[in-house]
Amino acid sequence: MSSSDLTMFRGAPGMERAREIIEHMGQQQIPTSPANYEIWTTHIAGVKPDLSREIQARLERGEAFTDETNEELFERFFANTRLSIQMLETSETIARELDDTVSNLRGAGGEAGSYAKVLQSAAERFEGGVDSDEFRSVVQHLAVTTHEMVAHHLKLAEQIDATTRQVQELQKALQSVKVEALTDGLTGLANRRMFEDTLRRRVADASVDKSDLCVVMFDIDHFRRLNEAWGHSLGDQVLRYIAAVLRAHAQGDVLAVRFGGEEFVLIMPRTNLYLAEALAARVSKAIKSKRLSLKSTGDVIGEVTVSVGLARFRDGEAAEDLVARAEACVRGAKAGGRDRMATDAQMDRQSAA
Ligand code: GH3
Ligand code: MG
Ligand code: MG
Repeated sequence: MSSSDLTMFRGAPGMERAREIIEHMGQQQIPTSPANYEIWTTHIAGVKPDLSREIQARLERGEAFTDETNEELFERFFANTRLSIQMLETSETIARELDDTVSNLRGAGGEAGSYAKVLQSAAERFEGGVDSDEFRSVVQHLAVTTHEMVAHHLKLAEQIDATTRQVQELQKALQSVKVEALTDGLTGLANRRMFEDTLRRRVADASVDKSDLCVVMFDIDHFRRLNEAWGHSLGDQVLRYIAAVLRAHAQGDVLAVRFGGEEFVLIMPRTNLYLAEALAARVSKAIKSKRLSLKSTGDVIGEVTVSVGLARFRDGEAAEDLVARAEACVRGAKAGGRDRMATDAQMDRQSAA
């Protein structure tokens, strides 16, 4: 779904749409999972005519939307498309707006409910002590109306409760999908996508505040050999081990990222070169300090080392240029013999010399 198709889900009309979608899903007893939500949002937006035709046909045949049906629809119409971040964010906004609407409605329902109670008690008082037939019939009418109103509000309250539950489920599900979309499956660190989003924001902040920002890249030395000698699954264990070391050192605003296969990054906002270098050195030392062994056989693998590149943000440069300089530093560290760090300051001095 392109971004322009999603504008219809913003603001007040967006809320209406979202309610429409949730109601449709409720009527068909479809769980509000993000995948199902995407199916129905797309259907209501009318941007996939094939999908809408399929849903319409099933509705006309009176077929139930079982879990199998929902999965089949998702497979057929959304295969290979992961939920886009934009879609997720839009859905989250919708969920939040719906939540507000529900609270407002709940408030309104409460007031009307107490009004009904007042009417009811007045009706009861009149019913006791009045002897005129006509007056009694008016009072009876009032009592009936009041009962109807109470019943109506009870039903409204139930509907609000049901919608609230759905909104909460949707929010929970969206949160977990968002976490999945932004983290690396093997190590649990931030993935490339989150890296890009975060770095862009950090670069913008550093430009505005004129604050320091450092990017440190770690590349495992001779990782291919390790894989070849000990197997891919040992390789995976090493990646998880290094991720754990990085995570332990990434405190405060520092973000630890799995940048690529065997490359990791720390984004360090408001950190000067001196502090960034010290932290990077501690990480490299911690990685190297453990003598790894194969769990199954006890075979000693020995130490794993990394080559490190450190680049400091230069005012006015683009995020990509900062990353490119960190990568160039890694190549410099490799060329210098591995198991070492190169900084852009050193590289500049070398190229000037
Ligand atoms: P260098 O010291 O120059 O960095 O050499 P290297 O062998 O570490 O680098 P190279 O780029 O040649 O190889 C990277 C290897 O990382 C190749 C690839 O099989 C491995 N790799 C990438 N992703 C994964 C992964 O998720 N799991 C495992 N086990 N290996 C991976
Ligand atoms: Mg590499
Ligand atoms: Mg490597």
